[in-house]
Amino acid sequence: MKVPFMDLSHLSNELRHELQAAVERVLTSGRYILGSEVSALEQEVPAYCGTRSGVAVGNGTDALVLSLYALGVGRGDEVITSPFTFFATVEAILQVGAVPVFADVDPHTFTITAQTVESRITNRTKAILPVHIFGLMADMPGILQLAKAYRLLVLEDACQAIGATWEGNGVGTCGNAATLSFFPTKNLGGCGDGGMVLTQDEELAQRLRRLRVHGSVQKYVHEECGWNSRLDEIQAAVLRVKLRKLDEWTEQRRSLARRYDEGLRDLPLKVPFAPAQARHVYHLYTIVTEPRDALKAALAEKGIETQVYYPLPMHLQPALRGFGYQRGDFPVAEYLAEHCLSLPLYPWLGTDQQDHVIESISRFSATAES
Ligand SMILES: *Cc1c(COP(=O)(O)O)cnc(C)c1O
Repeated sequence: MKVPFMDLSHLSNELRHELQAAVERVLTSGRYILGSEVSALEQEVPAYCGTRSGVAVGNGTDALVLSLYALGVGRGDEVITSPFTFFATVEAILQVGAVPVFADVDPHTFTITAQTVESRITNRTKAILPVHIFGLMADMPGILQLAKAYRLLVLEDACQAIGATWEGNGVGTCGNAATLSFFPTKNLGGCGDGGMVLTQDEELAQRLRRLRVHGSVQKYVHEECGWNSRLDEIQAAVLRVKLRKLDEWTEQRRSLARRYDEGLRDLPLKVPFAPAQARHVYHLYTIVTEPRDALKAALAEKGIETQVYYPLPMHLQPALRGFGYQRGDFPVAEYLAEHCLSLPLYPWLGTDQQDHVIESISRFSATAES
């Protein structure tokens, strides 16, 4: 039996007719940039997430860059973030000329916490950028309290966490802004690139709306230097179709995750931690195990594809050489990079496929122990 890590073609089959109709609608309209589909998506996604505004942009990375810029983060400012994330988080900080400062992650949630962040604050710190990695929100009440005490901005990297909540509050509802990615493999993914900034701050949203079109409100009049970073109408139309399925898909992810939890419970590995106050949306189902590489190889032999997110922490990236970080600086992030393994998990993963994964891991553990 083959168990691919991800299978996006299934999704297109399930929604083929609706997606075709949506694309057709855009083709017929003849309007491809910043038209009614993007406007509608900018109503629907914030409504789903519980925020006042949403500004659609070209991708999740641009959502981070434009947010930092619009919040006034720039040259010389320090931004505290996670070393255990996708590179785009750090890239955005560097692109606005700011300095990425890392705080280690919690070994259970894999996110930064008020505790790990506080000792990294200096008088140059301008913002905290928690990453809701794998679909679990960071402890936002703790981070927001710290931000308030030190007068810092909070930007959430929610690119993996649309629909996630903490004590019932969704991403982007409490901090200054949150970013989403609509990259095809994300929980809400388009048929191409896309992203959005969520915020409760309508003034910030207005600034972002002009930054994404060359700093312009009125055509050919430019208030400031901006970017060309827009979500196109076809992507917006596709995303609107998929958004209607998102809750159902998220519940499927959550119930498959519970099935994994059950099936893997007694094995020598750590299943994802999901605190009671959190709604984990399981963008990825990531276990931690000492013989990670051996397990990955054993599963590959059984036709099961797994992935390592992420094998090299941010402070050890070649692009950050100049910052003087060393191995040993963030031991939890480094440990996770060496022992994390993401298992196949998507809404349409069959329970027979999942049972094959569980049985193969059990068998591997039994042989490894004997
Ligand atoms: C996907 C992702 C991004 C970047 O999103 P793109 O749409 O690919 O630019 C940023 N941060 C995290 C944590 C992500 O997973």
